Amino acid sequence: MYLYNSATHKKEEFKTHTPNHVEMYTCGPTVYHFAHIGNLRSYIMEDVLEKYLRYAGYDVNRVMNITDVGHLTSDADEGEDKMLKGARREHKTVMEIAQYYTDAFFDDCRKLNIKTPDVVQPATGLIPEFVQMVSGLLEKGYAYLAGGNVYFDTSKLPRYYVFNDHDEEDLAVGVREGVEEDTNKRNKNDFVLWFTKSKFEDQALKWDSPWGVGYPGWHIECSCISLKYNGEYLDLHCGGVDNAFPHHTNEIAQSESYLGHPWCPQWFHVAHLNTNDGKMSKSKGEFLTVSLLQEKGYDPLAYRYFCLQSHYRKALVFTWENLDNAAGAYVKLQKKIAALDPNDGTVDQAVFDAYKAKFVQTMGNDLNTSMGVTAIFDVLKAKTNDATKLALIGDFDQVLSLNLLEAAAAFRNAKPAQVIAQHDGVYIVTGEGNPAIDALVMQRYEAKKAKNFAEADRIRDELKAQGIEIVDVKGGATWKRI
Ligand SMILES: [Zn+2]
Repeated sequence: MYLYNSATHKKEEFKTHTPNHVEMYTCGPTVYHFAHIGNLRSYIMEDVLEKYLRYAGYDVNRVMNITDVGHLTSDADEGEDKMLKGARREHKTVMEIAQYYTDAFFDDCRKLNIKTPDVVQPATGLIPEFVQMVSGLLEKGYAYLAGGNVYFDTSKLPRYYVFNDHDEEDLAVGVREGVEEDTNKRNKNDFVLWFTKSKFEDQALKWDSPWGVGYPGWHIECSCISLKYNGEYLDLHCGGVDNAFPHHTNEIAQSESYLGHPWCPQWFHVAHLNTNDGKMSKSKGEFLTVSLLQEKGYDPLAYRYFCLQSHYRKALVFTWENLDNAAGAYVKLQKKIAALDPNDGTVDQAVFDAYKAKFVQTMGNDLNTSMGVTAIFDVLKAKTNDATKLALIGDFDQVLSLNLLEAAAAFRNAKPAQVIAQHDGVYIVTGEGNPAIDALVMQRYEAKKAKNFAEADRIRDELKAQGIEIVDVKGGATWKRI
């Protein structure tokens, strides 16, 4: 496989420390709020990468952290604690917030067909290891105590800026307006390994340490969690491009100083999802979540399809119109696959192997997912029987995870428009064969007939929230998606 490496700024042949085995680390979410779909773009592309590596024959050990402590509103460890902010916003404890949003994150992942990593480690579960690593960095002279906190001394490194292609906006992260400068730091880019004297006296989570009661900085958790579960040699580190600086830069500084040898040679960064006004963020404009997409009637996998149509290193612009186009194309693809006859012939191995080889090569070329999707259309046009086509589509979908065969089977088995009840009139339903929606449409009709208008309106609103509109027709009702 050839993969672009942001540490060397080149597309390189993918290599691992141990043959056929990949130690892979992914920065996980900070669980103080829902993930927005821009965050989830990174997880989708990392999921495709992991699945491709497995498909190509690698054995993969993938590790991910859950940040439930230590991440401040500025990525350069200044500002307010994100978890505390979330807890105050929702009048809950920090751990309640962490649990709620961890569950919400994995719910989103499930809906988007993102596999759960082999190891998922919340930061609060590994405090003794963090303390040990910070102690090691102090002993080796890479860290210092100032004002009660422990800082990493970036001036001790021959080369601190490892990724020098991040943009000015990311570099300016530590000097944003409204962020007070930390006068304890010896150098501008020094960062906190352990906080004791924090300006937040109400910090909810604190642990004992040789430097006083406190809590870890955000960056140390990833170095430490990876070291524990991936070992001393990491093959591949993934994350959103906004994590390259300062987060990943700091991870490298800590890990290599602590270990005394190079740590991770390959870095995979996924570009931003933008809106028309710029980079998507939680604080700006509409807060786009998977649940919101569902409320508007989109299949979450249509969003996955939308992401796969673009290269992971290119910024992707989200508009509802762009998503509509992707959603339409995704359904059209499902219908095309549904039209294939599973009983048409048996798998032609030579054809299967030829198309598979092409797919492997396409995806192995810096994870070209848009060409990977195109490969499915090529299979649909191939001069071979339907059994071979279905086998190939199922094979490719192990990597793309678009539920193509399942969705096509559902189309194939869907009942035509039918009458679902007969009272004094009929209810006409769509051909989707969705019993849950049909039942609600019926309940609403009966409530209306009984002149229980409040209940009828409530059901109408409930369906509307799911993107379903009831249309009254003579003697019954029908429904459509809006
Ligand atoms: Zn990280």
